[in-house]
Amino acid sequence: MSFVPPGSGWPEDPAGPGTPVAHTPEDVRELAASSGTLAEVTARESVCRACPRLVEWREEVARVKRRAFADETYWGRPVAGWGDEKPRVLIVGLAPAAHGGNRTGRIFTGDRSGDWLFASLYRTGFAAQPTSTHAGDGQRLLGARVVAAVRCAPPANKPSVEERAACFPWLARELRLVADPVRVVVCLGGYAWQAVWPALREAGYELPRGRPPFGHGAEAEIAYGGAPVHLLGCYHPSQQNTFTGRVTEAMLDAVFTRAGELSA
Ligand code: SF4
Repeated sequence: MSFVPPGSGWPEDPAGPGTPVAHTPEDVRELAASSGTLAEVTARESVCRACPRLVEWREEVARVKRRAFADETYWGRPVAGWGDEKPRVLIVGLAPAAHGGNRTGRIFTGDRSGDWLFASLYRTGFAAQPTSTHAGDGQRLLGARVVAAVRCAPPANKPSVEERAACFPWLARELRLVADPVRVVVCLGGYAWQAVWPALREAGYELPRGRPPFGHGAEAEIAYGGAPVHLLGCYHPSQQNTFTGRVTEAMLDAVFTRAGELSA
C-alpha cells in the first residue's frame, strides 16, 4: 500500500493527498472493508492499482488517446460509482469504456452506451438532462446511482476472472454503504446480473437460494433489512445491441419505468 502525493491536478478529484492506494487484491479487501463512508470508498477506489494489466491499459489509453479527443486530458484511473448518495434505484454495469468513463472520469459519460442510458434515464425521470458528456456538464441523477462491477476500463471490454475478483470488494462495500434506501437494482447485461448477486450477499442483502436466469425484463425479489428489493435485468445498451435493434429506446424505457414504479 502507498499514499497519494499532493496535487493530482484533476478538478473535483475525490482522492486527496494521503488517500491510501491499493496495490494488491489484499489491499483492496482491507481498504474496502475499512471504508466507513461513500466518500471514503470513492476516494480509495479512484486511485486503486491492484490489477497490473488494467492499470497499464487504462494509462496507455489515456496517453495515446483517440484522435477525436486528442486535446483532452483523460482521467485514466478507476471510475467510481456516481449519482444520488441515497438512491432508490441502483444501476450496475460491467466496466467503464476506454474512451468514455476512462476519459471523462464519470461512469457511462462520453460514450455511446451512455448516450442511450442517460437519454432513457431522463425520459423516465431519473436524470436531470438527456445527455452526459463530461464531468462538469451539470448532469445529475435523481434518486439513482450508477456503478460498474469492475472499476477500470479493460481491453476489449473483457476483465479477467482475477480482475473481477480483485474489484469485487469495492462493489460490495459501495452496495453496503448505499443499501438503506435502495428498492431496485437494475443490472445492465448478463455479467452485471451475475456479478451483483455475490456482492449483494456480501453487502447484507437476503437472497433466494438460486439465481434466476438473466433476461431483458427479468425480475427477482430480494430483501434488505426485511424490506423488499427488486432486481431487474436489462440488456446492455452497448453499440452492438443498439445497432442491431436487440435493445431499443422503448425497451430501456420499459425497464426504468418499471424501476420507478417499484421504487415509488
Ligand atoms: S479493476 Fe478494480 S481492483 Fe483492479 S485496479 Fe481497477 S479499481 Fe483496482
